Amino acid sequence: MKKQQVLPVAARLELRPAARIGRFTESVIREQTRLARLHDAVNLAQGFPDFPCPPELKAFSSRAIEEDYNQYSITWGTPGLRAAIARKAKAYNRITVNPETEVTVTCGSTEAMICAFLGLVDPGKEIILFQPFYENYQPDSYLATAKPVHVTLRPDVKTGEWTFDEKELGRAFGPKTAAVIITSPHNPTGKVFTRAELESIAKHCQKWGAKVFSDEIYEHILYDGARHVSPASVPGLEDRTITINSASKTYGVTGWRVGWAIAPAPLTNALRKVHDFLTVCAATPLQVAVEGALAMPKSYYAVMAIKYRDRRDYLMKGLRDAGFAPFKPRGAYYIMADASAHLSKPGKSGRGPEKVPRNDVEFARKLVEDIGVAVVPGSSFYKPGKDGRTDLLRFCFCKKEETLRAAVERLGRL
Ligand code: GLN
Repeated sequence: MKKQQVLPVAARLELRPAARIGRFTESVIREQTRLARLHDAVNLAQGFPDFPCPPELKAFSSRAIEEDYNQYSITWGTPGLRAAIARKAKAYNRITVNPETEVTVTCGSTEAMICAFLGLVDPGKEIILFQPFYENYQPDSYLATAKPVHVTLRPDVKTGEWTFDEKELGRAFGPKTAAVIITSPHNPTGKVFTRAELESIAKHCQKWGAKVFSDEIYEHILYDGARHVSPASVPGLEDRTITINSASKTYGVTGWRVGWAIAPAPLTNALRKVHDFLTVCAATPLQVAVEGALAMPKSYYAVMAIKYRDRRDYLMKGLRDAGFAPFKPRGAYYIMADASAHLSKPGKSGRGPEKVPRNDVEFARKLVEDIGVAVVPGSSFYKPGKDGRTDLLRFCFCKKEETLRAAVERLGRL
């Protein structure tokens, strides 16, 4: 047998990654997209549209390149885009913003969130996450050497609405709490936080001096009369909220990577410093194009929400017909579905000749490999343990009708 080359100890230590990297794995969502490509599966995993973006945006971006907006912008973002964000914040979010000192344009909301963590959270502090949580927040916490603390959202047995327990929320806060992350509309459950819920969070934030990192990327994707309330518009949270958003979901341009953070000037100063050295600026011509997008008529947003509602209703029915128990989202474009009917019962081996999957991860693998539909296993949105569920799958429906039809048809073979 050939002898394996053994590296000297010093070299092996040098090759070892930083300890903080060991705390998390690569994104499960993006891994599922790679598997979808590998197995030629319908991709209902990663939340990006497979249909064209509005033609206006294509025109705005090509014009910006033609007009030679091709160099770095001011690090905080083009003045035009920051002014447009401030106007929108006032009109839609009821937040009064100074675009000179309180708005930072970033490479997607992903960067805005990391800037908030790195600029505003000291090592060893705690970050409260509602779980199931959007998977980025956990690695964000570890990159900032902060500790995630989880508050569990549970679906009401009768209504299916996801809510949290007031007492559990209260217990999560303490002297080490740096911030709480609110995602409303929520990924992955579709929960839309009510004003009353935000007021209760505000009470704790004031008591413990905690900030709010508010991810509002799905703010226009609402159903059944649900209303978006921005945490920064809730009394007691104005001075401590970082409002994060982007063009990605609202305008169906997830690859443009144009996002932003709105925060009171002292907080903005902190996250601008991180942004400056992390990425310098977002793509300038696309910032110019997003300035144009923010001036789209109100009808654009209404029509978008209606189209997503129809897709939601179609997939809800398809999932029920295929033996799932889906939870109806009130916003965003994901459906969490209980997949227990397709899983082996606890205590059984589940490895008989028919190979019944034991949990969401095994089932997601079977779906992508054998059925041809990629989804995200629900457990990737939970901290493993007592409250971590392993019987849920997340399906996204920001896809063409024909894509959803193909998925439903394939799921029908289960
Ligand atoms: N927010 C999207 C999702 O949850 C996309 C995530 C990503 O890959 N940035 O699927």
